[in-house]
Amino acid sequence: MKFIDSKFMRDICNVTKQSYDNGWDERNGGNISIRITEDELKDFDDVKEVKRTFDLGFDAKEVAGQYFLVTGTGRYFRNVISRPTEDVGLVKITEDGKHADLHWGYEDGAKPTSEFPTHLMSHIARLKTDKNQRVVMHCHPTNFIAMSFTQTLDEKRLSRILWKMQAESLVVFPEGIGIIPYMTPGTNEIGEATAAKMSEFKVVMWPHHGIFAVGSDPDETFGLIETVEKAALIFTTIQAQGGNILQDITDEELKELAQAFGVTANSKFLK
Ligand code: 13P
Ligand code: ZN
Repeated sequence: MKFIDSKFMRDICNVTKQSYDNGWDERNGGNISIRITEDELKDFDDVKEVKRTFDLGFDAKEVAGQYFLVTGTGRYFRNVISRPTEDVGLVKITEDGKHADLHWGYEDGAKPTSEFPTHLMSHIARLKTDKNQRVVMHCHPTNFIAMSFTQTLDEKRLSRILWKMQAESLVVFPEGIGIIPYMTPGTNEIGEATAAKMSEFKVVMWPHHGIFAVGSDPDETFGLIETVEKAALIFTTIQAQGGNILQDITDEELKELAQAFGVTANSKFLK
């Protein structure tokens, strides 16, 4: 079997296209990584050879031996579906944790996203409590980013606003939303700050930039971003209608919602 025909490639092509179509990935905006195990690759005959090796610039020993399918830096989500062998690469973290070996893709010389430190550090942070952790996705959802200008960067306040915009929010992100300060993208520092938040949250706001989300598969991770951005869109629309909220979902109703759907809402964010 050829790796291009794998469900992993189907998933990454579908998600990047849909994210672009949603307006979240202008130019090279956005990146995604999917963790794949050695066992899941055993039937593919074109992923055995190491083609190139990249320096990671930090220690990723905790995921040594694991494979990641990851979009290339500078590559456009709009193009992934039509040129997957150039814009996507399958890399394996080396045993020393300091490098990534390329096993497939990046055929015209590409390398992993500049946000690979944040991706790997987030995978590592989530894997400590969730063995099903598979996907990290970053993109630039318009309404969510806009809220980082008009709202105070307070996790409790922002989470509560988004929870109250629609009944789905609390069910999909019961932990709420983590926020880091504005930081320079592509650095190990922003990776460390994001990963620290990921131990508590599945969604982290990068103010004036975008969103990072994690999940157990591409659909779930994309759906999480969709739900957050839909809540932010409702918030924007409310402001466009004059901003005068006459009634909303109460805290009592949020608690009932959590109970009805069997999720544990972040009690620090509820009254
Ligand atoms: P890359 O092209 O390196 O993936 O960067 C895109 C981006 O959104 C940076 O935050
Ligand atoms: Zn970005």
